[in-house]
Amino acid sequence: MGCAEISQLTTLHRTRIAPSPTGALHLGNARTFLVNWALARQNGWEILLRIEDLDGPRIKRGAAEQAIDLLGWLGIDWDVGPIYQSDDLSPYQQAMSRLATAGDAFVCKCTRREIEAASRSAPHGEDHELRYHGTCRPAAATSVAAEEVDLASSGWRLRAPEGEQAFVDQFAGPQSIDVNATVGDFQVWTKGGLPSYQLAVVVDDARQRIDRVIRGDDLLGSTPRQVVLYERLGLAPTPEYWHLPLVRGEDGRRLAKRHGDTRLAQYRSQGVGPERVIGLLAAWSGMGGSCPMTAKEFAAAFRLGDLPHNDVVFRASDDAWLLTK
Ligand code: GLU
Repeated sequence: MGCAEISQLTTLHRTRIAPSPTGALHLGNARTFLVNWALARQNGWEILLRIEDLDGPRIKRGAAEQAIDLLGWLGIDWDVGPIYQSDDLSPYQQAMSRLATAGDAFVCKCTRREIEAASRSAPHGEDHELRYHGTCRPAAATSVAAEEVDLASSGWRLRAPEGEQAFVDQFAGPQSIDVNATVGDFQVWTKGGLPSYQLAVVVDDARQRIDRVIRGDDLLGSTPRQVVLYERLGLAPTPEYWHLPLVRGEDGRRLAKRHGDTRLAQYRSQGVGPERVIGLLAAWSGMGGSCPMTAKEFAAAFRLGDLPHNDVVFRASDDAWLLTK
């Protein structure tokens, strides 16, 4: 193998498509996944499919298999996986032990109700995590001996750094977010014995060599938490991030059941073909009027520079167009 080939191998970038099987794939997730896939195929990045199935009670039986099936139906493929987070908890346990023994995390005994009551007046926007009021935070960082780190029945939080964290998003531009002011000491381990979303994503992105992250901008606010975890776990460098606007209903809220049934499975069962779905996603991605096309045609024509920076609005006319025979 010549030098040029070796250097090409070592610089191969890798992204991931990471559905959470907490609900069915809808037009909103599909647009993010399609853009992620098209950017990867245009740039020669590897794609790993990761099923984020650690969100206990919210996981729906059969949703992971259905998501995999629907991605294939759309024409989205991948090079590695599917890898299921729930298959092996040991990498998350090791990372959590490291945080606890380093004094970067503390056990939190507060109930959700207590946190809700304390954070009622604090803004938390679209974040899933409420701001923590600090009741269980020790005054100084306190390390815990490895054999005393309880990961079976204690919830753990990370000591949030003070001040703004700055990073540059490749799509949304320069960002500056204060973790302490927005969510405070955030959750890294649940009482149920599982890593939080933030910890699991960082551990996986690092060990799976993901250096290109493309996802919905509802997760923009999570990024500085993830960057802090990279630092505390000694896992730098962090990936490059592209946060894309979400698809919303006409009321401005994130696409959900209240906007009608936009599940891909529902359209497929009504005889809508994947080319029609991709045609709509293309129109939402700055590629002109709706015109049916395959995923490969989408990847050939898509230009990130044309992707609108404002949120996409799903309208009744889009639904009608999909269902046009
Ligand atoms: N599993 C998350 C979702 O479906 C994506 C997480 C991520 O991309 O970091 O919204």
